[in-house]
Amino acid sequence: MLDYLVIGGGPAGAAAAILLAEAGASVRLACRARSMGELFGESLSPGCAGLLQMLGLWDSFKEDGHLPCYAHRSAWGSSEIAFVDLIFDPRGHGWHIDRELFERRMLERAGALGVSITHEPVDGHWSFQDDHWQGTLRHEAGQIRARRIIDASGKASWFARRQGIERIIDDRQIALIAVMQTERSLEDTSSLVETVPEGWWYSAPIPQNRLVVSLFTDAGLIEPEAFDELLAQSRHTRERAAGARMLYKPRFVAAGGGRLGTVYGPGWLAVGDAAMNYEPLSAHGITLAIRSAIDGARALMAGSEDACPAYERRLLRAYAMYHRECRQFYRAETRFPDAPFWARRRSAAPQATLSPAQGPEPS
Ligand SMILES: Cc1cc2nc3c(=O)[nH]c(=O)nc-3n(C[C@H](O)[C@H](O)[C@H](O)COP(=O)(O)OP(=O)(O)OC[C@H]3O[C@@H](n4cnc5c(N)ncnc54)[C@H](O)[C@@H]3O)c2cc1C
Repeated sequence: MLDYLVIGGGPAGAAAAILLAEAGASVRLACRARSMGELFGESLSPGCAGLLQMLGLWDSFKEDGHLPCYAHRSAWGSSEIAFVDLIFDPRGHGWHIDRELFERRMLERAGALGVSITHEPVDGHWSFQDDHWQGTLRHEAGQIRARRIIDASGKASWFARRQGIERIIDDRQIALIAVMQTERSLEDTSSLVETVPEGWWYSAPIPQNRLVVSLFTDAGLIEPEAFDELLAQSRHTRERAAGARMLYKPRFVAAGGGRLGTVYGPGWLAVGDAAMNYEPLSAHGITLAIRSAIDGARALMAGSEDACPAYERRLLRAYAMYHRECRQFYRAETRFPDAPFWARRRSAAPQATLSPAQGPEPS
């Protein structure tokens, strides 16, 4: 019998598996294979360095060619750029990462510590009896038994929702994402945010002279074919992307915030986006996913009555703080009073729920 089954091989699942294996537990990690182009470059906040050190990932991270990010630029509430230099951040600078490589390194580290990694999704019915779980992986004969399950399946909250837990969705924000190739080397490694009536643009360089350019908006407001035209109407983002060649057709992904009604139950606990996900404006998604995975894995290992409720309280506090900050940011943009994207964010945010039976969120 396994001590732990971890569902999901993203940053949260890998971090939880590393921590548990380091503590001497027997761990199996089941991950669904990523589809082509599913992972694009993302930014890592300065706070992640300490977590990577704790997980034994820092040395390989430094050698992997992720780009340092020394500044954030934003035209938010004004068409002029405001500049935040990370030289004043005591934790140091951030990074623009090759996300695929980043995940691979995390799984390699887990494997080196003895975690058994299966590239098959967890599927079917799971039952909890005599203080352990029993169920199956897709395409694998035989039952798996594990004392505890960690749901790190991302926003789908695959396992938790099958236990009847609803997912509370904050908004229907989506991102239209394009990855572009530039011929010149990108000396300006700052991230750039720029508001427009439809929402806000985000752009950042990623390794291999590439640029991620995304428009964050609400579902139903734009069509993917409008990407070029909308980019041409922007000011700073258009300048940055000038001359860059589109590598993949722009595609929509779900990009709103949301959380589970409760993040634990008998013999299971959710971590990372599966527990709560922050809309990307915070730019802390990966760091917070790893932090919650470490915190959640420790709570499960502690096994005391209050460990999981205390974990949930910490997550809820962080989530409430994130909501307050987001609201302040959105209210600071007053130039587009009639645009639906901005009008919705000035009014109190309605919360929709995704019931257990509705299937995964669109992505
Ligand atoms: C458009 C966009 C831009 C973003 N930009 C940034 C950024 O710049 N910086 C940042 O820090 N964060 C960013 N984020 C957030 C960040 O991507 C997430 O917070 C982070 O990926 C969460 O990690 P996770 O491991 O919890 O979940 P995920 O990375 O979603 O991993 C979950 C894994 O579980 C797998 N899975 C699902 N169901 C099953 C199953 N049944 N069996 C097995 N495996 C399963 C999935 O396939 C996936 O591999 C962004 C998010 C979006 C949408």
